[in-house]
Amino acid sequence: MGKIAFVDLKKQLDFLEPAVSRAINAVVAAGQFINGPEVQQLEQALSEYVGAEHCVACANGTDALTLPLLAWSIGPGDAVFCPTFTFIATAEVVALRGASCVFVDIDPVTYNIDPESLAERIEFVLKKTSLKPKVVIPVDLFGLPYDYDKISAIAERYGLKILEDAAQGFGGLYGDKRAGSLGDVSATSFFPSKPLACYGDGGAIFTQDRQLAGLLKSIRGHGAGSDRYEHLRLGLNSRLDTLQAAILLVKLAAFPQELQARQKVAKRYEDALRGLVLSVPEIPSSSLSSWAQYTIRVPAQVRDAVVDDVKAKGAPVMVYYPKCLHLQKAFEYLGGHVGQFPAAEKATREVLSLPMHPYLSEQDQDRVVETLKASLKAAGV
Ligand SMILES: *Cc1c(COP(=O)(O)O)cnc(C)c1O
Repeated sequence: MGKIAFVDLKKQLDFLEPAVSRAINAVVAAGQFINGPEVQQLEQALSEYVGAEHCVACANGTDALTLPLLAWSIGPGDAVFCPTFTFIATAEVVALRGASCVFVDIDPVTYNIDPESLAERIEFVLKKTSLKPKVVIPVDLFGLPYDYDKISAIAERYGLKILEDAAQGFGGLYGDKRAGSLGDVSATSFFPSKPLACYGDGGAIFTQDRQLAGLLKSIRGHGAGSDRYEHLRLGLNSRLDTLQAAILLVKLAAFPQELQARQKVAKRYEDALRGLVLSVPEIPSSSLSSWAQYTIRVPAQVRDAVVDDVKAKGAPVMVYYPKCLHLQKAFEYLGGHVGQFPAAEKATREVLSLPMHPYLSEQDQDRVVETLKASLKAAGV
């Protein structure tokens, strides 16, 4: 039996290969590797899909988070709130700006930032520190858009800007709003394992604000003004390659179908596993997940053994994330401690993510499920 891939890029390549090859060849023939016309075409297509007025393509998802912080001049003395259960980039960009990262617990069902914990942490900052609360970065974790209504009410009450981290959420829906349109600014990533993926690094920023979009474009290109060698401010080199843009145009056309296929895979996992594990993902009825990950919970005392066993039997499973950010050495200086964010810490002990991609065959999926069931049984669950 063949090995099952966690995210099967090879299968996707076979399916889209002729169109992707044509797109790559056209860019190579034209030779405009930087700022080719495909970049603007992609920005246009992405903003239409997401339902945001403006899209600024950039080099990766981490830069897509950094550029808005630069545009808003976030720095020392500013408090930026983000969940402790996420990929490190969400918080890293804040700390690298010299701002203070204030961690927040998660909702144990959605895994997204917990509104009550957010309000509490803002009050803490206001009462016990001299920091100014400026920004909240809710994350569309595992593909599920964050609780937009509750978080924007809190953001409004305290005058915070929302920077949506939609690196995993691209394609997801909150009511009729697409992930990527849910923040004052939203950032996404096209890293190969994300729902919409390119063949390397890539990212994009979305906003409804024309002036801000102009500022983001300037900062993306070394702070340039109307002339390329006039610099109005400091910036980055954070362009998206023309080649990646051309590839993404092809992939975006296939994306709605892939999103459907992901729903089917998720439904089959749910039917097979509900009741057998501690929890399967619960998606609020008015939301749609882009299923960047399909994450279940098993009892903490057997989780690591089950993961090792299932992996050894050829079904790749992963733990996203094994450690909260407030307990990472990189953030030691913030003085976080065990027990500070109970919901997030419990999640790190119980979660495991199953292979999830639109080209996962029913046969391979059944093998994953059977292997998992056997492992759980062997572990006495
Ligand atoms: C992947 C990811 C990022 C960073 O994206 P890159 O393109 O790898 O820089 C940021 N936040 C979250 C939640 C992610 O999953």
